[in-house]
Amino acid sequence: EAPVITVDGPGGAGKGTITQLLARRLGWHLLDSGALYRLTALSAMKQDADFDDEAQLARIAGELAVHFEPTPEDEPVRVFLDDEEVTREIRTEACGDKASRVAAMPAVRDALLQRQRDFCQPPGLVADGRDMGTVVFPDAEYKIFLTASAEERAWRRYQQLLEQGQSVKLPDLVKDIEARDERDINRSTAPLKPAEDARVVDTTGLSIEEVLDQVLAVTGR
Ligand code: C5P
Repeated sequence: EAPVITVDGPGGAGKGTITQLLARRLGWHLLDSGALYRLTALSAMKQDADFDDEAQLARIAGELAVHFEPTPEDEPVRVFLDDEEVTREIRTEACGDKASRVAAMPAVRDALLQRQRDFCQPPGLVADGRDMGTVVFPDAEYKIFLTASAEERAWRRYQQLLEQGQSVKLPDLVKDIEARDERDINRSTAPLKPAEDARVVDTTGLSIEEVLDQVLAVTGR
């Protein structure tokens, strides 16, 4: 059994950046579980699926043909669906919104559970998501819950989307983030909340280096 560090929290809290740096620093594998929900949504959109049909969406989640390719240095991990690169496509707001809808369906979450656990391989795993410490890896060695104010998270996502050349309005993003939080927190299966044994780190106003230091301190490295 390889060791696991879970990093959960709401969207835009900096999990993606921090987990990628952490995995690289430790030389461990990385699971971006949000990408699996985004890929399910994207695959469903490509197949023109009915987003109210839970059984159909669960089947799509179970059949996902995906792979991830690590990249050198700061670039995001490359993501492929049916051998087509979709690294950028899954990061759009439209895809994120659909992902948060499919993620509210218990059958979809179930269909992705074992696939997520399979990422746990030596020498270790850094798992990024909403329910890594509560549901997927309840026995993880180290559990972190990253938060930040909704305004700060919207601001970070705004800058990220601008860098990717997507045009968005900041007030719309604040609304989107709040709507998504609301769905993540209030859904009946695997609602977003810190695991009882998680260390909560509020990243509002902190630099990436400061957050990484706090997270490394939790792991004693
Ligand atoms: O983290 P990211 O924004 O990529 O996740 C996309 C959506 O997938 C989130 O809005 C959330 O609803 C869902 N998700 C989840 N459980 C996870 C990871 C993501 O429900 N472990």
